[in-house]
Amino acid sequence: MYPKVYLKEGKDQALLRKHPWIFSGAIKNLDADLHNKLVYVCNAKGNILATGYYQDSSITVKILEFKEIEVNQEFWNYKIDKAYNYRKAMNCFNTDTNSYRLVFAEADGLPGLIIDNYNGHCVMQAHTEFIHHHKFEIESAVQYALQDKYKLFYDKSEWAKDTSDTHDTIIQENGLSFYVNWKEGQKTGFFLDQKNNRNKLKTYCSNKTILNTFSYSGGFSVYALAGAAKHVDSVDISTKAIEWCNQNVKLNQYSERHHAHISDIFDFLKNSKDNFYDIIVLDPPAFAKSMHHKHSAVQAYKRLNIMAMNKIKKGGLLFTFSCSGVIDKQLFHSTIQSAAFEVKRDVKLIDHMYLPIDHPVLPYFPEGDYLKGEVLYVD
Ligand code: SAH
Repeated sequence: MYPKVYLKEGKDQALLRKHPWIFSGAIKNLDADLHNKLVYVCNAKGNILATGYYQDSSITVKILEFKEIEVNQEFWNYKIDKAYNYRKAMNCFNTDTNSYRLVFAEADGLPGLIIDNYNGHCVMQAHTEFIHHHKFEIESAVQYALQDKYKLFYDKSEWAKDTSDTHDTIIQENGLSFYVNWKEGQKTGFFLDQKNNRNKLKTYCSNKTILNTFSYSGGFSVYALAGAAKHVDSVDISTKAIEWCNQNVKLNQYSERHHAHISDIFDFLKNSKDNFYDIIVLDPPAFAKSMHHKHSAVQAYKRLNIMAMNKIKKGGLLFTFSCSGVIDKQLFHSTIQSAAFEVKRDVKLIDHMYLPIDHPVLPYFPEGDYLKGEVLYVD
């Protein structure tokens, strides 16, 4: 029913190991006319191994199912219902937390599709045009899965037109309140991927002075304040982010222990006092968006971590992250290791941080495991 693309002899190994991407070099009959179309992927003998969609780029086919299927409304319903049932079974939403990632691309068998559910307001980010073209089927599948919990569907893809008059809501995460604006905010509006790590920070904050860098709308700041921090400074270069950060701190009634600063973090750290902060959180945006920028990104992470380690009070903590997919755990760890070596302080690695349960990682798709973090004790 769909056009067939044929893999070169011996190039079916990754597919047989359930890796959901087919690179152009593996395909015998590349054909730009198939751009955004559904295809069957066949081995050199002509047997259909998978169904996916074609893109005229280096990742040429993204796999939707590792067998021959028809991609119809039933398919979208099945996939999104399955994604929803997994989150339900894993207790991703409850009385304290009403927001979670409903669909996490490859991890839910839907490459190119992200859907974050903000208490029934489902915000879709399509990373490919193919996914955007199927937005109505996706919307209807989300409605089908969520039933009476469904409120709204918003397509935030670069190809989408804004037809909604609702753009924001207040969500609950681990019993704390956050304002989320999916139209003006970054990504889908809020960084749900840090929820466990913010909760971890909270446990260390009692009576401490905290610096939350790259604060965005204040996720880590609010948790630190909820953990009885003495004072929290939040820093972000974006005026809008700081406005939302102040709003979120106020929403939870912690304003008197908080100060927000609009500043470039490198300038802020340079000008701040040494030995002042008990805890520093470093959660920068992805410095490396592609392999191409890997080396310069490693240098930037190292420089930033050196600056932060130098500022921390003796016996303090550094919560440091990377959300660059191309920087894996090992490389991140060695970057932190070389930063720790250069600052000439005693540093202990005391904890690791990961993606939460609503952002699962496929064992055969390590590229999905983009967020990593370490907690360091700095003496
Ligand atoms: N920790 C946040 C998410 C961080 S997103 C949370 O838990 O919600 C990254 C943020 O870094 C963005 O808000 C962006 O505006 C900010 N940013 C990017 N470059 C910056 C710089 N040089 N200095 C300060 N902030 C920066």
